[in-house]
Amino acid sequence: MDAFLVENGKLNLSALRTPELCWTGNILDSIAFLQSFDAYPDLKKAKKLLDIGTGGGFPLMPLALCLPDTQCIGIDATQKKVDAVKRIIAAVDIPNASLVCGRTESVGHSAEYRAQFDVVTARAVAPLSVLLEYAVPFLKVGGLCAFWKSTKIASELAETADAQKKLSAPYIGAFQYELPEKWGERTIVFFKKTAATYSDYPRRTGIPKQDPL
Ligand code: SAH
Repeated sequence: MDAFLVENGKLNLSALRTPELCWTGNILDSIAFLQSFDAYPDLKKAKKLLDIGTGGGFPLMPLALCLPDTQCIGIDATQKKVDAVKRIIAAVDIPNASLVCGRTESVGHSAEYRAQFDVVTARAVAPLSVLLEYAVPFLKVGGLCAFWKSTKIASELAETADAQKKLSAPYIGAFQYELPEKWGERTIVFFKKTAATYSDYPRRTGIPKQDPL
């Protein structure tokens, strides 16, 4: 957290600027994921995790620290954020965490990253239907998406019906957790990839967001 707050003072990585806010809002919120492992035991065996739109490195960095046997990669389109997170990772020495700078819509077509991951995470990046198109191409068949959301997911989830079909990634459930005090209840929403992704997806940069599946 200290290393993150130093970088956050130079660049606007997160609005949670004090140790108290950062601890609960970024770190506890990231590691709440570990509590979902009883419900989704496959997550314990994950060898490769990708965090899309990692921004200032959440949930990437806390998860990499808690899961030393999982190779954790963060992707973000903003080079300055990627450079800042690289400095934090070097300062803290997190050997199983690394970064790639790029858009999910293009990196998702590269052989090095496509269909390579057991888990894809994302927090505060896009609506669920957009996230599915960004995330599913990176998963191996059988892999899981885990998307951090508030508790109001019903309408966003209903809008994913077409994306679930076109990407062969059905909704498998949601994990609810509670952060202390005013932070309240939150949800991690899970989808499972059940078949290989058509080469059409993800569509060109900007299209998934402009015209969600
Ligand atoms: N996950 C972090 C940051 C959220 S801000 C957190 O919870 O604190 C959203 C980030 O997603 C931004 O840094 C933005 O650059 C990145 N982003 C949004 N769409 C993207 C895309 N299609 N490809 C790569 N990065 C993307």
